[in-house]
Amino acid sequence: MNIDYDVLVVGSGIVGLGHALAAHDDGLRVILIDRDARPVGASVRNFGHVCATGQSRELRELALGTRERWLSVAARTGLPIRQSAGAAVARAADEVAVMEELADKRDAVELRTAAQIRADLGGVVADDVVGGARLHDDLRVDPRTTAPRLADWLGNRDGVEFRWRTAYLGIEEADATGARVRTSGGAIAAGRVFVCVGHDLDYLAPAVADDAGMERCALQMMLTEDPGIRVPPAVLTATSLLRYDAFAETSAAAALRTRLELRRPELFAADTNIMFTQRPDGGLLIGDSHRNRLTVSPFLDESVSALILGEVEAVLGRRLRIRERWQGVYAARPAGPYLTARLAPNVHACSVTTGVGMTVGLELAARSLAGTLTS
Ligand SMILES: Cc1cc2nc3c(=O)[nH]c(=O)nc-3n(C[C@H](O)[C@H](O)[C@H](O)COP(=O)(O)OP(=O)(O)OC[C@H]3O[C@@H](n4cnc5c(N)ncnc54)[C@H](O)[C@@H]3O)c2cc1C
Repeated sequence: MNIDYDVLVVGSGIVGLGHALAAHDDGLRVILIDRDARPVGASVRNFGHVCATGQSRELRELALGTRERWLSVAARTGLPIRQSAGAAVARAADEVAVMEELADKRDAVELRTAAQIRADLGGVVADDVVGGARLHDDLRVDPRTTAPRLADWLGNRDGVEFRWRTAYLGIEEADATGARVRTSGGAIAAGRVFVCVGHDLDYLAPAVADDAGMERCALQMMLTEDPGIRVPPAVLTATSLLRYDAFAETSAAAALRTRLELRRPELFAADTNIMFTQRPDGGLLIGDSHRNRLTVSPFLDESVSALILGEVEAVLGRRLRIRERWQGVYAARPAGPYLTARLAPNVHACSVTTGVGMTVGLELAARSLAGTLTS
């Protein structure tokens, strides 16, 4: 087969960009296509929180690799990235106990007194805060601008081409020498093809997505007006401690779960992870809730938005005004945090299947390109 590129990447989210970046760094000729005119998927709808401190096992390894890659991206592109950028705030003794247990095992977790965590969060947390922790392996990027800026930077490198508004439609021919795929802009032939379309893999390879038990997870998010305070780290709360494995796997987490299930069942009914980060213009990105379905309802539930807003207001001890609301969607499956699959000779799919693409995506992509992932 006559090939025009070494690597064709489908999708301009962080996973697709990570493949293109790694391929470019390997000196390969790369083309990236996306059906949209710019990145508008999960990679721009999130908190921009690289939550490396809270991961365990393989995700921790991928997160630490991704962390290094983000720092290298920042150095090469000028993208602003904040370091030591995570904090967890505790409003009850059982939350402190979870943080203490992880701090015993992990140097990146630094316990903070109530006064210290108040200062870390710009001096604004509510009176009932009893302590907290800094999460030093964490990074923070601005989610609205990071993927578009990385795409711009990559698109200006020699040997990298972007084609926007070009949808991947399927495989025309694939053999040991490469693959030719159909797109809405004509056929493209490449030595290897990586389909990085996140939760939309079921549109393109339904059997692969179904076999993996892949669904969509829909999340409710909001952006506030600038409340006039400055909160440098991404801030996690009690529900986050039950979501991120390194915290959730502590023995102390059981008591926290029992208390919240008993006293705050509404937080579980909406499957919340109450957290927030601040955008450069001062607006707070606040969220989130989770609902898994094959096809998700596009309609936001106002009672869930009110619950999230109330929780963040309680942590900050102040009222917030909402400027925007939106739904984010990512791929989810019970059996693993990512999915890689061979769709045909030299055609591979790669999706993160839990809510950590910003945290693990760059290293996952590099390993996917290198063919060193195991599942
Ligand atoms: C609300 C929310 C909050 C989150 N918070 C965090 C966080 O703070 N930290 C973290 O680590 N993770 C977070 N995540 C998870 C993270 O955002 C995702 O795991 C990650 O962005 C997935 O990246 P992706 O490249 O796979 O998908 P996407 O960013 O969705 O990109 C997929 C791309 O594929 C393109 N595409 C689809 N089909 C086609 C086709 N047929 N042809 C061409 N192009 C196509 C789409 O246009 C899109 O640009 C969050 C997710 C959400 C939704």
